[in-house]
Amino acid sequence: MKLTVLGCLGAYPYKNQGTTGYLLQSDGFNLLIDAGSATLIKLQEHLDPLDLDAVILSHYHHDHIADLGVLQYYWQLHPKRNPETLLSIYGHTKDSIHFEELENVSKGHPYFEAEELKIGPFLITFMETIHPVVCYAMRIVEETTGKVFVFTGDSGYLESFADFAKDADLFLADTYLFEGNEHHHAHFTSKEAGELAKSANVKKLVLTHLPQFGDLEQLKNEAQKAAGKGIDIELAAVDKVFNI
Ligand code: ZN
Repeated sequence: MKLTVLGCLGAYPYKNQGTTGYLLQSDGFNLLIDAGSATLIKLQEHLDPLDLDAVILSHYHHDHIADLGVLQYYWQLHPKRNPETLLSIYGHTKDSIHFEELENVSKGHPYFEAEELKIGPFLITFMETIHPVVCYAMRIVEETTGKVFVFTGDSGYLESFADFAKDADLFLADTYLFEGNEHHHAHFTSKEAGELAKSANVKKLVLTHLPQFGDLEQLKNEAQKAAGKGIDIELAAVDKVFNI
């Protein structure tokens, strides 16, 4: 499967870079994971948004759904759209107001922590994270290859990621904070991302939901120190592609 970064800043767009959004592709299937600000315009550089097969949302904070409404307008107003087709959007139902907004030119589909979900070529399981609003991490397995991609969504330190992300080929982790801010109520620090990557024995750690300020090389070095030398670590960046 192929992961393309559309936006990877936390909280708000800055200097022409958007917030959380990723395109995950396998076997001709196009899944958009979160839809933060500027992701729709970036997405258009990679494919026609009418060719999306589904969208999945970790939670309903603005930096993860800012472009969802305009994506729905795209589907509503684009002359080439087949009016019979609805865009499938998967979200949790613990915030009914936001979940109901998924119904429009799109169809809202609920996901649940206890149930494995199949979307196209992907099998997805969920784990609720530590965050001020309900948010889910996703473990996505590509059915044909067994390759594993884990996205933390937004989360403060949570030991159970050691199991949830076990042996992942790619672990995409919310790393909004530098070392020294551990046990935050909403986000990992670099040190925590590195420690969890190590306990989960992941092959590769990608730091995302990045801060607007500070030295990102330092963020990466802090994570590397905590993870040990055996784990490959990269910073997410717009347009970066990961073949998993
Ligand atoms: Zn959030």
